[in-house]
Amino acid sequence: MVNRQLLTGLLLLLLGGSSHAFSAAAASQGAHVHGEATLNVVLEGNTLYIEFDSPAINLIGFEHAPNNEEQAAAFSNAKQMLASAERLFDFSTTTCLLENAEIEAPYMKNHEPADHQNHHEAQQEHADFHASYIFQCEQAKDLTAISIKFFALFPGIQAIKAYWIFQGKQGAASLTADADNHMLTVN
Ligand SMILES: [Zn+2]
Repeated sequence: MVNRQLLTGLLLLLLGGSSHAFSAAAASQGAHVHGEATLNVVLEGNTLYIEFDSPAINLIGFEHAPNNEEQAAAFSNAKQMLASAERLFDFSTTTCLLENAEIEAPYMKNHEPADHQNHHEAQQEHADFHASYIFQCEQAKDLTAISIKFFALFPGIQAIKAYWIFQGKQGAASLTADADNHMLTVN
């Protein structure tokens, strides 16, 4: 949670209300569209902040609390993969080392009897995974592209909307599951 607050605060600070387009895009990241995920990428100095949001169905194939062994395995597998930042991002132009990763998975909060859980699920049919990462990059000025490897690991993701702010410059990109469209380029 700390990282998410930090990133949100940083985005607001960097945006400074100067770009309505970006603000609107950033504000709409909460939109829950099956098949789509969102990345916010902020480079400040040599510190790279990445935030990932996705509907749960993209990552585990369902959107309810796991209720059998197969679903429980898919759920814990998704959490593990999200925590494996080195499998998700490739910084070919410089070295960026992971400093911290935080994964927020849905369905973790209640330990209530099953009938209560079912009641909650009926009211709240959609759910999201959130992940935030902090990297320290050796030569941040050389970081001009990031290969986004979520598509191969999570076939349920068809598109990723990426918003980036690098040293004050900003842009957006639409990445898709097409093999030649996984690169977030920044310039
Ligand atoms: Zn949903």
